[in-house]
Amino acid sequence: MMRLPKFDYRTPRTIAEAVKIIGDVGPDAQFVAGGTDLYPNMKRRQQTPGTVISVMRLSELNQVSGDGSQGLVIGASVTLTDICQHEAIKRDYPVIASAARTISTPLLRNMGTIGGNLLLDTRCNYYDQNYEWRKAINFCLKKDGDVCWVAPGSSKCWAVQSSDLVPVMVAIGAKFRLVSTLGERMIDASGFYNDDGIDYLKKRPDELLADIHLPPANGWRASYQKLRRRAAFDFPVLGVAAYIRYEKANGHEVSTGSGSDQVVADAKIVLGAIAPSPLQVKEAEQLLIGQPFDAEHIHAAAEVCYSKARPLDNTDFVMNWRKQMTREYTLRALKELR
Ligand SMILES: Cc1cc2nc3c(=O)[nH]c(=O)nc-3n(C[C@H](O)[C@H](O)[C@H](O)COP(=O)(O)OP(=O)(O)OC[C@H]3O[C@@H](n4cnc5c(N)ncnc54)[C@H](O)[C@@H]3O)c2cc1C
Ligand code: SF4
Repeated sequence: MMRLPKFDYRTPRTIAEAVKIIGDVGPDAQFVAGGTDLYPNMKRRQQTPGTVISVMRLSELNQVSGDGSQGLVIGASVTLTDICQHEAIKRDYPVIASAARTISTPLLRNMGTIGGNLLLDTRCNYYDQNYEWRKAINFCLKKDGDVCWVAPGSSKCWAVQSSDLVPVMVAIGAKFRLVSTLGERMIDASGFYNDDGIDYLKKRPDELLADIHLPPANGWRASYQKLRRRAAFDFPVLGVAAYIRYEKANGHEVSTGSGSDQVVADAKIVLGAIAPSPLQVKEAEQLLIGQPFDAEHIHAAAEVCYSKARPLDNTDFVMNWRKQMTREYTLRALKELR
């Protein structure tokens, strides 16, 4: 049985107290929410903070406010189960509720939070192993070693951004509020992730993710498709988020793409779980914008996504098959929005 290492556990009640603790303790401290990612990592000695600071008693982080007409603010400690069941999220942002519903298992969704999901550690077959397993291969670049077993000539870690909600947040244009003792800042989800399996976030370790800001839900639709081995509880090995906004050829916005005089005003396609950061396929988006949302343009966009996807051999399934599936899952995500 794997055991947690010893650590100090702190339970601040206010954001100011939480960021002061992490500021005082420094790099040896880490925040925890549901712990469904951090605690297994600690058991495997991938992350070994000496002080763990819970964010679950910060009341500001446990709230959802607003609605689709004005935009929604979701506290970082809201659990995935609450995300799935929240009336305004189900009604105005159904893509978020449905993507959250695909994450892990009901029990883990009761513990796991939206903030923890957006800050998930990157994953790799050579890294998500116990300490003895990793020691037997002399570890790897991401933790304790000096070689990447996936790309041995590479000085970069290719561990995969494996959150289901990240591609959705990038596609719909969410923003994140970060707080530290130095103040607070807002950052776009699209600029928040680095293409580096070790240094995978633009967040400093002393910054607390306070809440997630969703744009008003008028005039656009979004979908998410997830590839995994077992529908019951596997991480994605490919996730495709698509976002479409229509307008009439005369420039007026409309909410569906069924009319013959309607064109795509804006489009986003974001691939998850195939690289250290979500991959926005701008070339595919450009093929859709200004065009009718028909089979010809959807197939052309899916083909571009297929050509841009470069999954590596570090998750479940053969990488070439995952690449092939990019075309199929992009088609499915776009067809859902017609
Ligand atoms: C068996 C299993 C299956 C899983 N399947 C999936 C899946 O299919 N899809 C998926 O996306 N995930 C999956 N997960 C991962 C995980 O359960 C979820 O991503 C969950 O949402 C993580 O949230 P958490 O609150 O438990 O995060 P935690 O473990 O508490 O934290 C995760 C990271 O975020 C940091 N953190 C948390 N909150 C804050 C904050 N407010 N400010 C700053 N830092 C913070 C922590 O320091 C840590 O680095 C799975 C996990 C397991 C064990
Ligand atoms: S991609 Fe390479 S360096 Fe990164 S976790 Fe996997 S084996 Fe380690």
